[in-house]
Amino acid sequence: MECVRNYINGKWVDARSGQTFQSINPANKEEVVGIVPKSGREDVVDAVKAAREAYEGWRMTPAPRRGEILFRVVELLMKKKEDLAKLETREMGKVLAEGRGDVQEAIDMGYYMAGEGRRLAGETVPSELPNKDMKSVRVPIGIFVLITPWNFPIAIPGWKIFPALVCGNTVVFKPSSDTPVCAAKFVEVFEEAGLPRGILNLVHGPGGETGEYLVSHPGVDSVSFTGSFDTGKRLEGLCCSIHKLIVTEMGGKNAIIVMDDADLDLAVEGAIWGGFGTTGQRCTAASRVVVHQKVYDVFVAKFKAAASRLRLGDGLQNDVDIGPVVNESQFSKILNYIEIGKKEGGKLLLGGKACLKGNCSKGYFIEPTIFGDVTPGMRIAQEEIFGPVVSLIRAEGLEDAIRIVNGTQFGLSSAIYTQDLNASAIAERDLETGIVYINSSTIGAEIQLPFGGVKQSGFGRKEAGGAGGGLDTYSRWKVVYRDFSGKLQKAQIDR
Ligand code: NDP
Repeated sequence: MECVRNYINGKWVDARSGQTFQSINPANKEEVVGIVPKSGREDVVDAVKAAREAYEGWRMTPAPRRGEILFRVVELLMKKKEDLAKLETREMGKVLAEGRGDVQEAIDMGYYMAGEGRRLAGETVPSELPNKDMKSVRVPIGIFVLITPWNFPIAIPGWKIFPALVCGNTVVFKPSSDTPVCAAKFVEVFEEAGLPRGILNLVHGPGGETGEYLVSHPGVDSVSFTGSFDTGKRLEGLCCSIHKLIVTEMGGKNAIIVMDDADLDLAVEGAIWGGFGTTGQRCTAASRVVVHQKVYDVFVAKFKAAASRLRLGDGLQNDVDIGPVVNESQFSKILNYIEIGKKEGGKLLLGGKACLKGNCSKGYFIEPTIFGDVTPGMRIAQEEIFGPVVSLIRAEGLEDAIRIVNGTQFGLSSAIYTQDLNASAIAERDLETGIVYINSSTIGAEIQLPFGGVKQSGFGRKEAGGAGGGLDTYSRWKVVYRDFSGKLQKAQIDR
């Protein structure tokens, strides 16, 4: 068991109140993974003060030097990848191979953003007037609060911390209370890499208190949040009322379309990975599969057979495909949705209950669950369940399938399986989601392009990628005009 602490101004400290909470292994509720400070307002004030005091020095550090520190962070992350992956599995339950993938995603983002230290490109464009030049440059925004969820406990913090730092901001990081030990181990790597004090601060504690104090602190310039729609919307309102920048990445009700000409085995593989990977706890999880009526029965049979072969258990074991769900609240929420699905008339084809036997008896395990004959308006087809539950919906054809996919409040990710080039082009054009996959599942974004959704899936700028994505979230444009004519020149008027 680890006793982790807050990291403020380069020192590991307890909450001023001395209060703590526990982080629990969801595969074995009896295992305490960490004891963690429960921070209050004073700790938030300390962390923001440290970030504010460090800001000027970091802003003035040349971006290539900032990038060099990030390169050192990444080199260390490579060495620690296996240990961090195992810790992720213990702390939030994802299977080890996925834990490795999560750390790798942070490594990828680290390399990408470290390289940005030597780019951070702006524009130089010609002036309409003689002896005058003009350019746009990226400048930091200031003090960033980063609030992250538990489902990607290293990758999502990496998505936010690397671009925030390379752009010259300083940071206060508030991780999920379900994955505080992962967060502390991640921050330790920055310390070990030589990041000067105060630039990255870590404050643990309950979102509704610690998180909200941070977001509303007047010394904070901007907030980046990933998590539920309800929390994100609340924070959007709060930030708007105090004129503070915020970007939110929220939930999804992502769907895969399977057309009648699709390679059905490939589509089944994609639907299994999208629906049950990370135990369905991804914002891009494929919780709906919209199947052309001509191949519905064949697809259902193959999908059900493949899902029934999935093995549940502790993700540290080699032969396990699906780990537990993260905590008691998610466990109850998902089981409740399964009951809702039954009452609404969904046809329960597989699973539908908690798994309490053998390896699963000590944790929050739910059997892979499939509902057939789901209609688009049912709650299980509309609301984010965030668990191993997939709804199968029949479609009459491409147009109908696209209408069904677009018919929710969310718009994060979608996919289509088809051999028809024209159908894929229409889907690409008409699906109202931030990300569209062709002949691949709804999950598997790469860090070098922007990530984010529309409607209730996201607000403001996007994460990941360079210009148009993460760099725009974590920097501001400043435009500079320089006149060396020695006289007053008037744009638009001197012609
Ligand atoms: P939340 O949105 O409540 O939590 C996400 C992060 O926000 C955590 O760090 C949390 O801290 C913090 N937080 C919570 N309330 C506040 C607040 N008022 N002010 C500031 N920060 C706050 O998600 P949950 O973990 O509770 O999961 C609930 C549901 O959210 C899931 O069932 C799923 O539908 C969705 N979700 C979506 C994710 C995504 O990737 N889009 C990721 C995780 C969840 P703390 O942990 O201390 O509460």
